Formats: sequence, C-alpha cells, structure tokens
Amino acid sequence: MDKDIATPIRTRAILEKYGFSFKKSLGQNFLIDPNILKKIVSFAELDKNSGAIEIGPGIGALTEQLARTSKKVVAFEIDQRLLPILNDTLSPYSNIKIIHHDVLKADVKTVMQEEFAEVSDVMVVANLPYYVTTPIIMKLLEDQLPIRGIVCMLQKEVADRISARPGTKDYGSLSIAIQYYTEAETVMIVPKTVFMPQPNVDSAVIRLTKRNRPAVAVIDERFFFQVTKASFAQRRKTLLNNLTSQLPEGKQKKEDILRALQVSEIDPTRRGETLSLQEFATLSDELYPYFH
Ligand code: SAM
Repeated sequence: MDKDIATPIRTRAILEKYGFSFKKSLGQNFLIDPNILKKIVSFAELDKNSGAIEIGPGIGALTEQLARTSKKVVAFEIDQRLLPILNDTLSPYSNIKIIHHDVLKADVKTVMQEEFAEVSDVMVVANLPYYVTTPIIMKLLEDQLPIRGIVCMLQKEVADRISARPGTKDYGSLSIAIQYYTEAETVMIVPKTVFMPQPNVDSAVIRLTKRNRPAVAVIDERFFFQVTKASFAQRRKTLLNNLTSQLPEGKQKKEDILRALQVSEIDPTRRGETLSLQEFATLSDELYPYFH
C-alpha cells in the first residue's frame, strides 16, 4: 500500500512541490493525521460495494482513504489549483472521480445517477470548508439525494447545535432542520493540532443517518421550517412574542396564534428551545390554515 498522503512530512512535501499556498477564504485546513482520517472513514461504515461522495478533497488525504475502503469515490473541489495536485497524489487509485465544481451549485443528483450505477449505497464523507458547513449540509439534505447519510468534520460549535436535544442551550432551528431528515450524533471531538494550518476553533465529527421518512409528518414542510425559525428569532422571547413578531401579519393574527397554541396544548409563555419536534409539527399544522 502506498504511503499515506496525510502524514505531516508527505503533506509538506506535496505543498512544497507545487508551491501551494492555503486560501483561508476557501476554508482550507488540511488533515495531517492518517489515524484521524481512518477513524472518520470507519464511522461511515463503507464496504467494497459502497460509493462515497467527498466535498473538498484538498490534496487527497481523505479521498485516498475512501478509495481504499469503497468501490468508488466522487469528489467535488472548487479550487482549480488543486486539480493537478490531486491528479498526481491520487494516481495510484483508479476508482476516484474529481469534479471541479462548487458543490453548492452542482447537480449532485445527476452526478450520482451517472457515477454510482453499480454501488449498493452512498455516503457523503468530508472535512468540510468551515465557511459554508451549514449551507452544504442543508443542500445535501434538501436535495433529497439517495444517500445513506453524511459523516463530516465541522466546527464543534456547529456540531453541538446540530445534535442538540430540546431544552438545551444549543437546541434551535438548525437542530430541528437536520433532525427532521436525519438522526444526528457527534461521534468524535478533534483537536486543532491535526490540521495544517490549524483552524481557530475546535472541531468535531458528526454522523447524520438519513431517516426513511422525516421525523414528524407535517402539512407543509416550508411552513414548518418557517414556524421553527420564527420561534427562535429571539431566544429570550416567549413563543407567542416570537410568532407574532416574525410570522407574516403576526401581530394582526395574535388571536389566531393563541388559538393554535391552545389547541396544540402549548403554553404561549414557553420558549422555542423547550419544544420537541413533534410539538413544533403539531403547532405548525394548527397555524397553517391561518396563514394560507
Ligand atoms: N479533504 C481535505 C482534507 O481533509 O485535508 C481538505 C479539507 S479543507 C477543510 C476543505 C476543502 O474544500 C478545500 O480543499 C477547499 O478548496 C474545498 N472547498 C471550499 N469550498 C468549496 C465548495 N463550495 N465546493 C467544493 N469544494 C470546496
């Protein structure tokens, strides 16, 4: 087996060979610890029939580990300067396809149809660029891709919010949006020292396992998310206050909102962070007729 790309010595040699300089604006913090990479891959539970999608391969540190454990890897990289490097570092592997594209603008579903005809399941595995972690995760979930789940490295603070449970300070509309589609868990906390250059914040790995159907059934998904966002607009305000000030014409519809809360058996003085997904679902369904 070839030497790992991710050892500090080899990473430095590759960067030097190509005169590569990190772009902070693209969230370029490369992993330089093969053991951490192998652990990330193990959380994805891939086998030789699986497909893997990577976002931001960098110089290929994670990509090669994925290539060794799965049938095929498709990786989206935005930075053109990395393409010749990847072409070189990943040359020992024949089961990798690099796509030069901003993943946020890519048609991932069509790429999956074209590239993953012969795999049994697909996981997204990535060390995400920290400036766009939430938009990337939300896009992958909202696009309703036929994936089994996502294992990714991101800022610990965002990981805490994503996997937060009701009643905790981190629980908010992001927790709800992601837990609506997936079962979310933080599986590893990662020190800054395993990155080059080191990021300013602590990191964590989360695993999102897609649910067969959303966690709760609602009349209108978009309205459900609108209600949850409105409920957390100002965390110290009561649910009633946030809903009246955030929902369209909420102030005029205060009586309707109070009625919906009453039918849902939710005290209007509660705060958004105390409501479970099911309570938000009930509430948004009760509010729905008043706003449509
Ligand atoms: N996977 C490598 C590793 O673990 O060492 C690099 C991870 S680095 C945190 C993030 C990578 O994402 C960089 O290679 C960066 O150029 C790339 N990137 C940033 N924004 C992107 C986007 N919108 N679409 C695709 N790739 C992006």
